[in-house]
Amino acid sequence: MSKKPADKVETLDRSYMLFRAGLYEKVGIDPFDSLHWLTSKTETYDVHCPECGRHSTMKSADYDDPWKVGHFTRHHQGKISEIDARRRRRGIIVAQLVCSRNEVHRMLFYFLSEGDWVKKIGQQPSMADIGIGDLAQYEGTIDKDDRKELATAIGLHAHGIGAGALVYLRRVLERFVVRAEKQAGIDPGKNKFVERIKDLDGKVPQFLVENPFLYGVMSAGIHSLQEADCKHAFPVILAAIESILQEEHAERQQQRAKEAAQKALNKLSQSISAKSADTDGETPAE
Ligand SMILES: [Zn+2]
Repeated sequence: MSKKPADKVETLDRSYMLFRAGLYEKVGIDPFDSLHWLTSKTETYDVHCPECGRHSTMKSADYDDPWKVGHFTRHHQGKISEIDARRRRRGIIVAQLVCSRNEVHRMLFYFLSEGDWVKKIGQQPSMADIGIGDLAQYEGTIDKDDRKELATAIGLHAHGIGAGALVYLRRVLERFVVRAEKQAGIDPGKNKFVERIKDLDGKVPQFLVENPFLYGVMSAGIHSLQEADCKHAFPVILAAIESILQEEHAERQQQRAKEAAQKALNKLSQSISAKSADTDGETPAE
């Protein structure tokens, strides 16, 4: 009986491995998995292209190293069964993405696979460059300190640091809640953090109110989880924080659009009133 895939297999999709998995994070795989999904040509990704300086669609491209080094190779040791060969395989897998705006813009990802695990061992551009650039979409909404500390968290995760990266995510969430309380004039007293989040219903993005345990998950990660578990938790928690930011950003944009429309409408109404007042003063032609 083959060893079952590790418990992390549910997150094992290509997008996760490319854009979320930190360096050297060992991800369990089925030892019989061909890993072809890592170089699949069918998927495209809407991510920040550091060279464009904005979001772009990245699509898969063949890895065209002229020396052909780095292509996925399997090492067979003597006369062994196919199953054993797969279990013992050790290989480098290279995935390349090309920017749909400019084909010179490329992203390269290197993975090492052996037996029942795979891990990312390198990438260009760095995860921090992609992730921090991604924060640009919240410009005008995101707090300056939040942006700085989210960037620090992404940078730490990109360098294989688990608990430390979670500390910064937690600080961002804490600051977010404290700010909302101040704006709403709420004194949290000695309430637990989860209660404080619930008390902000209607004043913070709904996603946060519906998932107040997010804070507890982060705290548990920092205080009691192994470093490897923290690394695995990071992308999930970051995605949750991004959902909160997206909701807040969309609301602010909607609010700004509403205010701009109201202002323009008031101006138009005033100018029409002024014109009709002028017309009323005129003597009709007949
Ligand atoms: Zn580009």
